[in-house]
Amino acid sequence: MQLLDGLATAALVRQSIAREVQSMVASGKRPPHLAAVLVGDDPASRSYVTGKIKACEEVGFLSSLIAFPSTISEQTILETIDDLNQRSDVDGFIVQLPLPQHIDATKVLLRLNPEKDVDGFHPVNVGKMCLGLDGFLPATPNGILRLLEQYHIETTGKHCVVVGRSAIVGLPMSILMQRQHYPGNATVTIAHSKTQSLRDITRQADILIVAVGRPGTITGDMVKDGAVVIDVGVSRVEDATKKSGFRLTGDVVFEEVAPKSSYITPVPGGVGPMTIASLLLNTLQAALNHQKSSA
Ligand code: NAP
Repeated sequence: MQLLDGLATAALVRQSIAREVQSMVASGKRPPHLAAVLVGDDPASRSYVTGKIKACEEVGFLSSLIAFPSTISEQTILETIDDLNQRSDVDGFIVQLPLPQHIDATKVLLRLNPEKDVDGFHPVNVGKMCLGLDGFLPATPNGILRLLEQYHIETTGKHCVVVGRSAIVGLPMSILMQRQHYPGNATVTIAHSKTQSLRDITRQADILIVAVGRPGTITGDMVKDGAVVIDVGVSRVEDATKKSGFRLTGDVVFEEVAPKSSYITPVPGGVGPMTIASLLLNTLQAALNHQKSSA
């Protein structure tokens, strides 16, 4: 078994982005600028956004955090998006999900200019992804593709089972794994909460990608020998031995599944850092597109 080291791979991606930013700045251009909109005080959301801002600083990007209390009106969020859409000093921005109940997340998403949608969630970018056209790929699935690539994992003709069908992870992952180039060309099965006999399906997977959000979803008996296992899930579970009182865990029972796998991602340190690296890559691309269109 070999660990798919997301921390190390993301560090390589950040180094190459930092070099590109240095040459951009040396040629007199402004560094890429990512803005993040955060609503409310959910500790997990705050920690994700803080991680993204910190990563921007590491590679030399400019970043802005626009934080609102959870009581903020939908109208104010929409006006903030309108402002970010038209600001020429912002190349890309994200709205950290989930949003409070009284704010319609779909309405917010549809308001984004697809050219600044570096999360790749806008229907225009989703459509481009489905058709194999240039656009912003969603960060988590794209980060997984880059991890598979870094470790030269064969995907062509393999059976890939994706557990979870969310718009941000499972669904785009299933589409990307069957695209007509590497990493891709896999035969894909997608499973979800209504799937019957999940174990029979996951046991057929050469590549098993799990994005459910429930610790313990995948046990050792659900994985075939030699499978590549990608654990996207991140859940906080109580742990009195930790100063914070909790630890992060994935969907896969690592101790049972790791010995059977050829490759496996740890949680934390697997998919998470690659998600942030992909967001940086999209922001760099947005800045390059922006410079080109305003040249
Ligand atoms: P989500 O929107 O809640 O989707 C979960 C999916 O899992 C749904 O499609 C659901 O099926 C399916 N599911 C639920 N119970 C199941 C079961 N018992 N068997 C099979 N499928 C089941 O979650 P998400 O946004 O995709 O996120 C999934 C996990 O990934 C979460 O832990 C999240 O924190 C983590 N995540 C991590 C990163 C990262 O960078 N590491 C990024 C994004 C998300 P239905 O569609 O039928 O309800």
